[in-house]
Amino acid sequence: MLSDGEIANAATLKPISEIASSMLGIDDASVLVPYGHDKAKIDLGYISTLADRPDGKLVLVTAISPTPAGEGKTTTTVGLTDALRRIGQRSCGALREPSMGPVFGMKGGAAGGGYAQVVPMTDINLHFTGDFAAIAAANNLLSALIDNHVHHGNALDIDVRSITWKRVVDLNDRALRHLVVGLGGTANGYPREDGFDIVVASELMAIFCLSESLSDLKRRVARIVVAHTRGTKQPVTAADLGAEGAIAVLLKNAMAPNLVQTLEHSPVFVHGGPFANIAHGCNSVIATRTALKLADIVVTEAGFGSDLGAEKFIDIKCRKSGMRPDAVVVVATVRALKFHGGVALPDLQKEDTDALRRGFVNIERHLNNLRNVFGLPAVVAINRFPTDTDAEIQLLRDLTQALGFQAFPATHFVDGGAGAEALAWGVLDELKEGAPNFRFAYPDESTVEEKATALATKLYGAAGITFAAKARKQLAQIAADGFAGLPVCVAKTQYSFSTDPKAIGAPSGHTIDVREVRLSAGAGFIVLVTGDIMTMPGLPKVPASAHIDVDDEGVVTGLS
Ligand code: ADP
Ligand code: MG
Repeated sequence: MLSDGEIANAATLKPISEIASSMLGIDDASVLVPYGHDKAKIDLGYISTLADRPDGKLVLVTAISPTPAGEGKTTTTVGLTDALRRIGQRSCGALREPSMGPVFGMKGGAAGGGYAQVVPMTDINLHFTGDFAAIAAANNLLSALIDNHVHHGNALDIDVRSITWKRVVDLNDRALRHLVVGLGGTANGYPREDGFDIVVASELMAIFCLSESLSDLKRRVARIVVAHTRGTKQPVTAADLGAEGAIAVLLKNAMAPNLVQTLEHSPVFVHGGPFANIAHGCNSVIATRTALKLADIVVTEAGFGSDLGAEKFIDIKCRKSGMRPDAVVVVATVRALKFHGGVALPDLQKEDTDALRRGFVNIERHLNNLRNVFGLPAVVAINRFPTDTDAEIQLLRDLTQALGFQAFPATHFVDGGAGAEALAWGVLDELKEGAPNFRFAYPDESTVEEKATALATKLYGAAGITFAAKARKQLAQIAADGFAGLPVCVAKTQYSFSTDPKAIGAPSGHTIDVREVRLSAGAGFIVLVTGDIMTMPGLPKVPASAHIDVDDEGVVTGLS
């Protein structure tokens, strides 16, 4: 089979105006803001005219606890969007924009795989329509304003040691994690410790993705707490620095959602891209909402496993925006479940039904959580790999069936949308059932401790939660600043229901130790940090960049 890059390079794309009109009914070409021939933004003014239209159905794609082997949520989101079109549904995808960190690092791109990709793949994985560059510039403007304020007399009495707002760049670069800025004498400001995060880990990325409009964006940016004052320790906000107007201007174009197509010409919005640990891990509210107004079924992906991405999609994105999923697809692979059953990575190719049976506890907990905690109907997409045997597939279907869920093997990676038609029919069956009995994991009015305990005990199988002394102190400051009522965003390893990445399967009885608490006042959540959470990843010894190249015709190779 050809590589992802070869398949994407060989694709024949339709003009994006044709996709917009034939697939989404956008007949007025003036509402499209084209970026070349096959990418376009949709004008925000036009989007506001759609407010009174009914919403389509919303299908959330999530997964079991991921393994280094890769599960295929994005690939399945694309394959399912295509398959729904094939069976006569007006579907549309809604995905995150890839970060360039993983593109040049280890994981590679995030535009799907095989014959289930969004295109133009190279552009989408790299600068795309410039949104991340705009977010980085806006973020760094705020950093510049903070240091400039201190330099010019510090009228706000900012305690420079308390500044939490970091600079960002959209690359993996461990050398930038900790540094000192303002060196070089009085003309260059006051030296202080600073550091860079990757763009997708920034609060501004989360704000961008949760904002409903430019005015909402401005309100949220104004609330960002960047530091505290000396003495009385009052919060210093972006509004105190007069930053929100200029930041909104920098993000004005980026806020309009990007439309692209799949290899089979289904429409997909690709917009925004927050991490699913330090932030909430799904594409922008504006893009999802626009898709819901323009299509009958919207398929959207949330990051990592359902304990992280889906929980945050529900408890943060849905809580804040009012949108509700109608059904959930849980992506699983036979190899990953064997990994959860204790098989080492190099041996995952071999048939092992006993290991699959042992590892099934992982998907079992994800499915039960979706049904019992969130009240959502779920189906399983078995993302088939060539090494999966029929006996393994049948066993996985039987075990899933015994739990009361349907599982559909899907071969969209090899066959495109045709390979996910059975899955599409299965999803359609769930959608016919009517609105689910949807619930959040915790009510708004719970305390931070109660919210964290609800997630730990109901979703993670933990006995309880502890807060380190430092975390308690930070929580007290957040309460003093008036933000104790926000939902929580747990930053936890994606590999386990516990905080130990090696605790595969379905661990229980563990405790979740919160080491640190961070306020994202603009985004509107409180981050509970457990374990080591990377906000500026590093590159591996042989980064993917080593294999990436371009020829004189501009054809890019080595991206996957
Ligand atoms: P996720 O969104 O869950 O992180 P992706 O859809 O990005 O996962 O897929 C992860 C990687 O696995 C990609 O490189 C993709 O090409 C590859 N992949 C996904 N499904 C398959 C499959 N069925 N067979 C082979 N490779 C696959
Ligand atoms: Mg993905």
